[in-house]
Amino acid sequence: MPELPELQIVAERLTSLLAGQIIKKTVVHNHIVVHGLPVDVFESKSVGETFDNVVADGKFLILSLTNHDIVLNLMLTGRVRVLSRHKRPTSYDMVSFQTEDLTLWYSDEKKMGRIYLVEKGDYSEVAGFADRGPSALDPKLTLDIFKKRLKSQRGQIKNVLRNQSFVKGIGNAYADEILLYAGILPFRRRYTLSDTETKNLYLAMKKVLSRIRDIISERSLDEIAIEKRDFLMVHNRRGKICPLCGGRISEVTANRFKTNYCQTCQK
Ligand SMILES: [Zn+2]
Repeated sequence: MPELPELQIVAERLTSLLAGQIIKKTVVHNHIVVHGLPVDVFESKSVGETFDNVVADGKFLILSLTNHDIVLNLMLTGRVRVLSRHKRPTSYDMVSFQTEDLTLWYSDEKKMGRIYLVEKGDYSEVAGFADRGPSALDPKLTLDIFKKRLKSQRGQIKNVLRNQSFVKGIGNAYADEILLYAGILPFRRRYTLSDTETKNLYLAMKKVLSRIRDIISERSLDEIAIEKRDFLMVHNRRGKICPLCGGRISEVTANRFKTNYCQTCQK
């Protein structure tokens, strides 16, 4: 599942490829991902509009058009690609937007993602969009604000980090990475964290997400789409060696979500 660092780079790439391109043809290949509008309206309203910039907003991508925004929640397996040659849609292809030179493809193997076409700036119909916290990478999210927001959170610290109403943009994989770097076990209750641990958590969040964004910024849109996360230190690395201490990485699964951690580095 793409998280904020990937989506920020995807948004930059899409902006540089698409800005100024006019949509000539929109085709919904699978209606299951289209929300908020009937398919024919979705298709006809987007045609004739010009792509402006693309931004990552937490786990959403917002593609600005002339009078509308395309809002994409890629969920587990949603991917975007921009191709200059024509191709036949596969069963994973959900929606395509064709311009004079390029086609933007949204594909989704598990078909769990959601795409909306909304009036510019009106996200009221977008599920899970309202009532979210500040972006995890927003420079305006200071340690003080982080601490204050953390106080109102309950439960295990990993779940807090993944809760978009606390901060937006962190998912299952990068929550594990952040907690390894912070030296905090994912199952710790939020209220058991000391002041020092809270500060370490904040610094780890900024550091880990920025590092991942830097790594991904070297990759192409296609490389990001295949999600080769060879930079992960702890997530998805059960039984492998912890790069920080040389110990073995542990794993527990709850609600189909894997959590990996290091029993030596994390307390
Ligand atoms: Zn370790």
